[in-house]
Amino acid sequence: MELRVAGIVKESVVDGPGFRYVIFAQGCSHCCKGCHNPDTHSLDGGYGIDTAYIIEDIKQSKYIDGVTFSGGEPFLQADAFIHIAKKLREANTNIICYTGFTYEELIKSKDRSRIDLLGLVDILIDGPYKEEQKDLALAYRGSGNQRIIDVKRSQKKQKAVCKIIY
Ligand code: SF4
Repeated sequence: MELRVAGIVKESVVDGPGFRYVIFAQGCSHCCKGCHNPDTHSLDGGYGIDTAYIIEDIKQSKYIDGVTFSGGEPFLQADAFIHIAKKLREANTNIICYTGFTYEELIKSKDRSRIDLLGLVDILIDGPYKEEQKDLALAYRGSGNQRIIDVKRSQKKQKAVCKIIY
């Protein structure tokens, strides 16, 4: 299955705790003012890559602590990310996913693929970047409205449950 990406970083230390394999999805519809990655917005930009190649490449990455889906907007290509996430779950690899949607918007969308992808990630960092709430002191986020959400606990409690990670 093809995934359109803006790029891949194999050992990032800024996209979640530890060393992380980061997949930057190409394409985003949120148009956040002050976005740091405007090159990722076009749905036609970036390049196509086979999800099977990414899965194998992650397997070969021996020194990573987890995988992060970033963007762009990963939930615009939910099916391709589901394919990767299922394989990562089988290997007990933890997954962090960034999104410009809020947790509540994803749940209310009733979009099966988006809800399935949500169910496969451990941590969701949600919400659009809001320039007026920019805060450089926040771990792994750009603005104060964005939350670090424990997805499993949120699903049990049926509401977003935030988590602190350093
Ligand atoms: S969701 Fe992320 S990539 Fe998309 S416009 Fe907002 S900050 Fe930029």
